[in-house]
Amino acid sequence: MVVHLLGTGGAEGIPAIYSESRVSAHARAHGGKDVRSRTSALVDGNLKLDLGPDTWAQIQRERLDATDWSAVLFTHSDADHFAVEELQYALYPFNPYEVAGFTVYGNDTIAEAIAVRYPDWPLDVVRTKSFCPFHHAEYTVTPIRANHGSGFEDAQNLIVSDGRSTLLYATDTGVYQPETWAFLEGWRLDCLVLECTEGFVLTPYNGHLDLEEFKDVLARLRSMGVVHEGTKVVSTHHSHNGDATHAELEAALRPVGVTVGYDGLKVEF
Ligand SMILES: [Zn+2]
Repeated sequence: MVVHLLGTGGAEGIPAIYSESRVSAHARAHGGKDVRSRTSALVDGNLKLDLGPDTWAQIQRERLDATDWSAVLFTHSDADHFAVEELQYALYPFNPYEVAGFTVYGNDTIAEAIAVRYPDWPLDVVRTKSFCPFHHAEYTVTPIRANHGSGFEDAQNLIVSDGRSTLLYATDTGVYQPETWAFLEGWRLDCLVLECTEGFVLTPYNGHLDLEEFKDVLARLRSMGVVHEGTKVVSTHHSHNGDATHAELEAALRPVGVTVGYDGLKVEF
């Protein structure tokens, strides 16, 4: 399996829009891995994980073709992950197609938002629930409950398996609640993509991980055997509010065996 990180920034991206923060200024001056578009990923060139406001630019930068995607899977409805208007371009009159070439998977909040926005459009939308696996092509996808958002939405992280390899895509989650920790018992991951939104800055907000929480979650997954010696661990969803440049994140995370994610990184496992 290959996971291709198309975006690795938090909600406001880096450089953050309307920002003169140190990290934003550094990214403007230096470019490269410090520039982060809104978080998104692609599995095997086939399964699109989230469809955010930077989708068009990510497609051009990575020279992708969105008609290759057989599914768009949403983790939750925050605007940096769920740009509902981007779905319409798959269909007539923006294209000649009467039906979209992909299935949309998302929680009740996502499904209802699509139904409100496009009540008459022939989009194939499948509702997902945490801890209820579903199949798509050769993949089994198991959503697990994230600790993120208002509590009124079933915000999810996604375990994607093709029968040989298993990925946990964990963007936008605080430290998991007990039900999620219990569910993870017995899993063995080949790749973990885990958010580190708050970087070096500790905040009272529990819906995202700072660096210390990131290391705590990773240590617990290691103690459970979910993450083991062969697991590739990559960070994502970095915010300028975390006050960490790419190089600073690397210095902090390399000692614990983590690759700091960046836009365009492909991880094979
Ligand atoms: Zn987000």
